[in-house]
Amino acid sequence: VWKNCLQIIKDNIPTQSFKTWFEPISALKLEGKVLTIQVPSLFFYEWLEEHYVGLLRKTVKKQLGDEGRLEYNIVVDKSSSTGNPYTTNMPSNGNGAEAKIQSMPIPVAINKDIKNPFIVPGLKKMNVDPQLNSNYTFENYIEGDCNRLARSAGYAVAAKPGGTSFNPLMIYGGVGLGKTHLAQAIGNEIKRTMPDKLVIYVSCEKFCQQFVDSLKNNTINDFVNFYQAMDVIIMDDVHNFAGKEKTQDIFFHIFNHLHQSGKQVILSSDKSPKDLSGLEERLLSRFKWGLSADLQVPDLETRIAILKKKMYADGIELPSDVIEYVAHNIDNNIRELEGAMVSLLAQSTMNKKEIDLALAKTMLKNFIKHTSKEISMEFIQKLVCEYFEVPADMVKSPTRKREIVQARQISMYLSKSHTKSSLKSIGAFFGGRDHSTVIYACQTVEDLIETDKKFKGYVHDIQKKLKMS
Ligand code: ADP
Ligand code: MG
Repeated sequence: VWKNCLQIIKDNIPTQSFKTWFEPISALKLEGKVLTIQVPSLFFYEWLEEHYVGLLRKTVKKQLGDEGRLEYNIVVDKSSSTGNPYTTNMPSNGNGAEAKIQSMPIPVAINKDIKNPFIVPGLKKMNVDPQLNSNYTFENYIEGDCNRLARSAGYAVAAKPGGTSFNPLMIYGGVGLGKTHLAQAIGNEIKRTMPDKLVIYVSCEKFCQQFVDSLKNNTINDFVNFYQAMDVIIMDDVHNFAGKEKTQDIFFHIFNHLHQSGKQVILSSDKSPKDLSGLEERLLSRFKWGLSADLQVPDLETRIAILKKKMYADGIELPSDVIEYVAHNIDNNIRELEGAMVSLLAQSTMNKKEIDLALAKTMLKNFIKHTSKEISMEFIQKLVCEYFEVPADMVKSPTRKREIVQARQISMYLSKSHTKSSLKSIGAFFGGRDHSTVIYACQTVEDLIETDKKFKGYVHDIQKKLKMS
């Protein structure tokens, strides 16, 4: 009977899926109208239930009539992790699973050959290379306002993996702001204090590749079992899941399994869960369960501290005005900050010259030009209006309200000094005014800077913000 079923199934799904999900199944027995099949793992069972229940139901009924039923026998996997999979993973928690169960009751039989499924022999002796970089520690992760929450949450998780409400812990932030470093620091700290814990670090991309490979090699079960056996999984750059539905699907299962058995999940991403796109809603909703902590661009002080720490670690010394210069000018990406310093050192070694500020300035000219974005008039408008708390579109309007006029004039002045725009285009941009208005605005601002201390402070503040951005 099962053979006939397989034939039907084979004709209805892609060969690859058939190979992956149906070839590993064997028929156990047929008692009356009940066919029992054996699947290699609980995960397999869940997957079949989720993706092929309709097809299976139809096929079995075709073969055995309307009374036909299917039962599963699940092989208890010795390498699978702890907990009681029979109670935690019943199908009734799946979306819409109730309907499935009513029309096709599927009691899960426990494989009686294994006397105690709770004892997992030899598991803790299992040796897994956690794939961590030992340089990424808390020790050399500088704390600042930019990372305080994420860092302390990470620390809490490292002290009690799976034992805090920060599960999953999602670390998000822009490129080069320290997501990988922090995520790995958690892993390293756990390995240091609890060497027996099974920790695995994997980038999302690598995980996707492994999944594709395991489909090709028919080792999907090993792949899933491996990850489900972990105590801590650190998945880096989960935004790369976008568009990869099948891999998301697999990770969803692994995630559920780990989470339900109190294992720790740590994720990193370039956006917060609510801004991530291209990910399935049910996976995103899981990502929101624990704590999401962001990494911000570090302030000048933190950037200097990071550079100093890095130099100390590498046994290098640079004059402090050079460090400040680098930290001041490269301000939105820690990786580039470090890169600039390395290139500075390399050039000084090649030229056999001591690095002083003048040298740093000439050497870093190219670097800084490449890394800092061109400042636009839109950006100036936004910054100025935010600073004075006036609506951004007002500066383009004809209004003569004092505070708006002031914001408009400062915007024009900064546009003249910080962009390459002509007086004409500046006037046009700020509400279709002519170039003499711009000249007048710049003159007014310059005069006020001379005579009005408070005003001078405003302009300097905004200029500083412009440079920092
Ligand atoms: P991301 O993964 O967010 O792109 P990384 O974790 O790779 O960023 O960080 C980029 C570089 O900056 C790494 O060399 C890292 O060690 C360093 N770095 C980031 N944040 C800090 C910090 N708070 N203290 C020290 N070094 C840091
Ligand atoms: Mg990274």
